[in-house]
Amino acid sequence: MTETRDTVILGSGCAGLTAAIYTARAGLNPLVLEGHEPGGQLSITTLVENFPGWPEGIQGPDLIENMKKQAARFGTIFQMAHLSSVDLKVHPYRLNTSAGEISTRTLIVASGASARWLGLPSEQALIGHGVSSCATCDGFFFRGKPIAVVGGGDSAMEEALFLTRFASKVTLLHRRDAFRASKIMLERAAAHPNIELRTNTIVDEVLGVDDKAVKGLRLRDVTHGGTSTLEVEAMFLGIGHEPNARMFNGQIDLDDEGYIKTTGNVLTMRSGAVVPGVYACGDVQDRRYRQAITAAGSGCMAALEAEKFLEAQGH
Ligand code: NAP
Repeated sequence: MTETRDTVILGSGCAGLTAAIYTARAGLNPLVLEGHEPGGQLSITTLVENFPGWPEGIQGPDLIENMKKQAARFGTIFQMAHLSSVDLKVHPYRLNTSAGEISTRTLIVASGASARWLGLPSEQALIGHGVSSCATCDGFFFRGKPIAVVGGGDSAMEEALFLTRFASKVTLLHRRDAFRASKIMLERAAAHPNIELRTNTIVDEVLGVDDKAVKGLRLRDVTHGGTSTLEVEAMFLGIGHEPNARMFNGQIDLDDEGYIKTTGNVLTMRSGAVVPGVYACGDVQDRRYRQAITAAGSGCMAALEAEKFLEAQGH
């Protein structure tokens, strides 16, 4: 094990990079561990129209790249590493990562959330063969083909709208009759001539497992139970996300859906008592707002808390 660091930040999305900018400017030489989704969810999205300061909007990957450059300018170090386990019961804290063991006085958890799947065996078998959770990554492969999008929130609307650039037709399937999406996104999708919104519909099976390519979907109407087949060559999931916090189970308190519980905005707890020097920010602890700007805001709070903690410890 090398020297003990002042601050390690887990995750390089909007929350982690904001925490990096602040802790780097405070002279804490933060180390950012980038996991399997560097840049977080913004790096796989398209136009971000609601991040203040960009009147015409900015592409998600560009926003993340700018934040990364800003963090690097003040001395942030980036390392690709997966965190397998942590010991937060001794201080300095110990992190076991794919790049070796790391010791740190403060830890900022900004590990975000990953795309959720339906969980059907046929869906799992066809991931990468027409089943995807990332329209911006995989939409291009289905130029001129019919595509389905599953979900009723903003992600599903955004994916459906983006996929109209490629698809001959997009059918959006939602399990209820009311949508969770914001009014503006729903209206845009509903008004698009190449998007059909189909409500009260669930996917029972993705067809094409034997062919290793999506051939269609077996659908069920939940109002009368009738089944039908929808001919599509791809299915994109837009059904929300799961927090990346499993490795903290038993070390800090998680809620019933696996999100990190926080008090005082970003302080973590074990059995209800604050764990000093360990902070959580962004989507891994936020099941309510989940916006780029709120993630950035909480990343700032975590950084300021880490700074105050280290100062009180005489570092
Ligand atoms: P979300 O708001 O939680 O919506 C998830 C949708 O998927 C819901 O409609 C839900 O159905 C459905 N769903 C969940 N599990 C399902 C399952 N097993 N089978 C079928 N359907 C399922 O998630 P999100 O759309 O990813 O959005 C998350 C946050 O990011 C929101 O705050 C959103 O505003 C924000 N966001 C904003 C933008 C933008 O402004 N451009 C873009 C993307 C995301 P029910 O409605 O029945 O629960």
